[in-house]
Amino acid sequence: MKYYDKLIFELSKEGRCGYSLPDAWKGVELDLPEQLSRKSPAGLPEVSECEVVRHYTNLSQMNFGVDSGFYPLGSCTMKYNPKINEEIAAMPAFCSLHPLQPESSVQGALEVYWNMEKALSAITGMAAFSFNPCAGAHGELSGLMTMRRYHELRGDSARTKVIVPDSAHGTNPASAAVCGLEVVVVKSRPDGLVDVEDLKPLLGNDIAGIMMTNPNTLGLFEKEIKEIAALVHGCGGLLYYDGANMNPLLGVVRPGDMGFDIMHLNLHKTFSTPHGGGGPGSGPIGVAARLADCLPRPRVIREADGRFRIESEKDSSAGRVSAFMGNFGIILRAYSYILSLGRRNLLLAGKLATLNANYIKEELRDCYKLPIDSICKHEFVFDGLIDDGSRKDADGNETRPGATTLDVAKRLLDYGYHAPTIYFPLLFHQSIMIEPTETESKESIDAFIAVMKKIAAEAAEDPMLLKSAPHNTPVSRPDETTAARQPILRWEATQA
Ligand SMILES: *Cc1c(COP(=O)(O)O)cnc(C)c1O
Repeated sequence: MKYYDKLIFELSKEGRCGYSLPDAWKGVELDLPEQLSRKSPAGLPEVSECEVVRHYTNLSQMNFGVDSGFYPLGSCTMKYNPKINEEIAAMPAFCSLHPLQPESSVQGALEVYWNMEKALSAITGMAAFSFNPCAGAHGELSGLMTMRRYHELRGDSARTKVIVPDSAHGTNPASAAVCGLEVVVVKSRPDGLVDVEDLKPLLGNDIAGIMMTNPNTLGLFEKEIKEIAALVHGCGGLLYYDGANMNPLLGVVRPGDMGFDIMHLNLHKTFSTPHGGGGPGSGPIGVAARLADCLPRPRVIREADGRFRIESEKDSSAGRVSAFMGNFGIILRAYSYILSLGRRNLLLAGKLATLNANYIKEELRDCYKLPIDSICKHEFVFDGLIDDGSRKDADGNETRPGATTLDVAKRLLDYGYHAPTIYFPLLFHQSIMIEPTETESKESIDAFIAVMKKIAAEAAEDPMLLKSAPHNTPVSRPDETTAARQPILRWEATQA
């Protein structure tokens, strides 16, 4: 019997003990105010150290992470997180800082912000960065607030609309709406790129700007970006770059040179910091020089004498978007990644990510439908299986249902792979979005390709095998409707 066949949470036995306090705490009497002191025992489990260690080790093995296997989750850039980043971020000189310490005592930390701003500006072609946003979506909102502030300061208050392509990540229209801007959708052409002819009639003096992802969510480079930039700037709008897909462009081309005015980076994607499960993240935003005064505050400033200072407020700023200075631990990890790769290897990262994606696409195109057949960047999209195993009778009625994209994803779990992103982008009905990243070896990619081919063969033979998958995971197929409608979000102690 595996551990998870019987989820053991009720391990407590009266009197059992598994902790020892550090000497410094022994006999310390805390002078707590009466109303704060506990009136009855906390009701903590009484367990031995061995039981605690096994409990958490077993739980951790029910999970899947980049450290345990290949994680081709499209759009998420689940690259390996080098352990040197963790060591740097865990240095006591960094991790024991307090955000309210005097500036004179945190000069080294402020220098990290300053150096990161220089590095990211060089990588992206932007003039200035703010590190306050704590996620990509938070960066989008902060960037749009910066855009709105820029128009406001010029007395141009009629610009209330933002153009978003129909291929955009869902956070783009959501951020625009949260920012109080109206979303106008521009269509994609059959080749997956923004339809410039559809864009032209949308432009006018009510347009605050356009949000674009390049390469877009299909992994395709928007080749007409220069023309789009000229058109949008021509009507007085700004260009926002969703930098979640910056990975393949590292060292190759810069958003600033493509004509973008504002952008965010997902440090937790492109710059190898761990992510998933809602955090922690970091979505710094960069802007062209004329927008630097509108960036959210606080920002790190360098004085003439070389000392660093925090500029807390500025009248022209879009305001404050988070407490203190963003997720410093994540910024440190990304800084460590950039310094350890250096200019030459950073450039190689993007190119290898592109090579890996194209290799998988070409190897699997005989088994999976490729709706847009062109060279991709770091990711690409299939539209389900070529042979899903379905059968029809003479009248065209289905006698055997075929395997869907969901079934393929579930079956992959049986083979020890995290599933790719599915049913996104919304442009196709059976989207499977694969992003291998540059950190996978040829061997691990070949093994994944072999499994994807095996699953396609299984589907053609017996789609039920996929439809009932996964068979080997701690939890099989949850009832997604009930999980959404009646979620059980916390452990409830039960009588054993
Ligand atoms: C991941 C992603 C986002 C949102 O970033 P978060 O850090 O998850 O908030 C936005 N756009 C695209 C294209 C993405 O892939």
